[in-house]
Amino acid sequence: MMDTLHLISDELDRLRNTKTYKYETALEGPQGGVVKVSGKKVVMLASNNYLGLSNHPAIKRAAAKGIKEYGYGLASVRFLCGTQTIHRALEQKIARFLRCEDSILYSSCFSANEGFFAAIVNEKLGMEVYKDVLYSDRLNHASIIDGQRLCRPELVDKKIYQHADMADLERLLEEGRDKDYRFRIIATDGVFSMEGDLAPLDRIAALARRFGAMLFVDDSHGVGVCGKSGRGAPEAKNALGKIDVLTGTLGKAIGGAAGGYICGTEAMISYLRQKSRPYTFSNSLPPSNVYGAMAAFDLLNRDRSIVGRLHRNTLYFRKEVKSLGFTIIEGEHPIVPIMLGDAAVAQDMSAALLKAGVYIKGLWFPVVPKGEARLRAQVSADHTTRNLDRALEALESVGRKMRVI
Ligand SMILES: *Cc1c(COP(=O)(O)O)cnc(C)c1O
Repeated sequence: MMDTLHLISDELDRLRNTKTYKYETALEGPQGGVVKVSGKKVVMLASNNYLGLSNHPAIKRAAAKGIKEYGYGLASVRFLCGTQTIHRALEQKIARFLRCEDSILYSSCFSANEGFFAAIVNEKLGMEVYKDVLYSDRLNHASIIDGQRLCRPELVDKKIYQHADMADLERLLEEGRDKDYRFRIIATDGVFSMEGDLAPLDRIAALARRFGAMLFVDDSHGVGVCGKSGRGAPEAKNALGKIDVLTGTLGKAIGGAAGGYICGTEAMISYLRQKSRPYTFSNSLPPSNVYGAMAAFDLLNRDRSIVGRLHRNTLYFRKEVKSLGFTIIEGEHPIVPIMLGDAAVAQDMSAALLKAGVYIKGLWFPVVPKGEARLRAQVSADHTTRNLDRALEALESVGRKMRVI
């Protein structure tokens, strides 16, 4: 028996003792505006099911049809025998929706991001000696950070700019202006999930153009959510068509099952099919997910009312939660951070809210900075006004009892 194996359970103890252990609450049924937990119906304010498509009849019908017509799975990667006509159809649909030339599917956005940076940086492309540089927002998602970690360190300089700080990004770009870099790549989330704020994509795109940099945007929390027609943070920030590489997930607003994509120029997408390892060496997306996602984009193309309902719900919830006396991070996104400060307060409040019929997650250090513990509410088009009012009543009574308001 290994005598060091106890280190594993020691670490678990440490996580429990420091209250950073992640406990999971099981839902006894599908995701939705209202879910069942321990036999009780609770209002769900913690999911990325922004459009309520997770359990939408049209999406489920499409997914079932996908299985019926194209089977359960492909048992292959795309380039061997894992490409069906529907994969290309979905890729073209995503590209058209996001105003790009083409797109490529991955099994998740996490693997899309893991598959992008190394596919560029680690390839010589005919150059024996070269260096690339990556500029990354300090709050970028873990998958962007991990994707960049796969780049060979001697081939890349990594610069982190302060969150959404254009002066800082410009300063770093200026510093590197006279260096002989091969590729300059700016990478940012479109929407930051802890704050619910949008990256200033119009301004980042202008900087990218000025300094000859490629702009990479991961819009996982933006697609289907931001902009009048749900085309995401680029639409909301007037930067549609100005993003060189646009990634996103099919696992949030777009049905909530699984899958990810990268959009870009035809050449970039063809290149990634050749060089991106999570694409080349991992199974293709199952037909049910492909059909489900296609139905989600069809719905968005056909009918803007669902995005409109999400925006109205968001406006309503943000206004009402403020008028109760809570401090929120202002913005327009359905992610509504309710700031509490103290980690223990956030923990106790989220537990008390679940008892009161509201499922809402507390976030604290190390997920967010020390002293900035919060509840993160996420509004959905699936919520009725009554659902939201029930949540607001619970927030008010628990908040009063805990003397937060
Ligand atoms: C959720 C999320 C991901 C991961 O997406 P999956 O498809 O679930 O892997 C990647 N990036 C960002 C910014 C996200 O919010």
